[in-house]
Amino acid sequence: MTALVAGLCVVCAIAFAALHRNSSVAWMAIALAIGVLESLALKDGDISRLDLWLTAATVPMSYVCVGESIRSAYGRTQSSWRCFTICGAAVLASLLLLLTPLPPVLQFLPAQLVGAAALARAVAVVRQDGRKGDFIDVGLAVTLSLVTAIYIVRVPVFPVLVGLESPIVAIPRQTLQDMLIVAFAVLVPAVVFLTLGRVISNALQTYRLRAEHDFLTSLPNRRAFESVAGHRTRGTGSLVVCDIDNFKRINDGFGHSAGDAVIRAVASLLEGRGMAARIGGEEFAIWMPRTSVEDARLHAEKLRHELMSLKVIELADDYRITASFGVAPCGRDIPLSQAMIAADRALYEAKNSGRNRVCIGNASRPAPRREPLPERAAA
Ligand code: GH3
Ligand code: MG
Ligand code: MG
Repeated sequence: MTALVAGLCVVCAIAFAALHRNSSVAWMAIALAIGVLESLALKDGDISRLDLWLTAATVPMSYVCVGESIRSAYGRTQSSWRCFTICGAAVLASLLLLLTPLPPVLQFLPAQLVGAAALARAVAVVRQDGRKGDFIDVGLAVTLSLVTAIYIVRVPVFPVLVGLESPIVAIPRQTLQDMLIVAFAVLVPAVVFLTLGRVISNALQTYRLRAEHDFLTSLPNRRAFESVAGHRTRGTGSLVVCDIDNFKRINDGFGHSAGDAVIRAVASLLEGRGMAARIGGEEFAIWMPRTSVEDARLHAEKLRHELMSLKVIELADDYRITASFGVAPCGRDIPLSQAMIAADRALYEAKNSGRNRVCIGNASRPAPRREPLPERAAA
């Protein structure tokens, strides 16, 4: 068992380095390192007084660390220092009780209760935050519940494990040790690998979200937009593209950070209805499923008016932000790529005819070349 726990500890140490110092993995590695000490103390036939103290302290400490690892894997904050102080006080109480002539079950009881409470809290976290039907969450809930049940059942016979007698259940030490080794040889690796699985799955989810979302506005980027809107063009729908007018002037006149602030403000205005995405520097798209072109046009007109009264403190008080819009049908018979060309064409038409307007595109016409545009007064 010592070799197994030590091996798992090494696996967690490697995972800790690989996963950019993940705190859940760190807590699990500490729990396992403490577990190695515990199994070394229990290994020999002769249990010294030092072994007794070591066991009383390490058993609850390792389970408190497992609890923290699970909390962190599910995005919970670390337990409060008050919690840790109570755990420390209970362990200290057990160490002091070992100096008294009280029955061993009572001597170990405070420390044992701390471990049981830590495990019960971890099970509650997995049950509350785990997703129903998720293999990792269900697996963790089951294995942790089994570990907790075994831990609680073991409390009355715990003194037998350290060579003392339990007045409650008479069982030979070797038999008890063999039973626990079999159970924990299965459950401990299962808990460790499932926790690692939850941490890795969380990390992949985070990287996927980052890869699909624009850093500046948090809107989906073009790739995510195309993969969602491109695969769900069933039924009738519309596509709106929007390009901020004379945006280069904002950058040139008020600075790049003011330009960024404008992009953020426009993005939060657009994300109210449909699926909005930032598909380019100052270009956005909104996919509106089950929306007719006329409804989409009305929505674009509403956005255009709201944009004109948008206030961004980085700009001059009287600066009026405007944008041009192109609207096109996008649905069962018109794939997103074709709708994009039509909406783009409508957008160019809006730009060519003076900007700050909404134009509707026809999905069956070929795309024209964009002409260089005369600049319009910004304010
Ligand atoms: P038009 O009315 O024809 O759309 O003119 P425009 O000036 O808005 O368009 P143009 O394509 O000439 O310029 C777009 C500028 O947007 C150029 C680029 O430097 C700037 N830009 C692109 N991405 C960002 C960004 O993330 N932040 C900022 N501040 N500027 C950006
Ligand atoms: Mg522009
Ligand atoms: Mg542009």
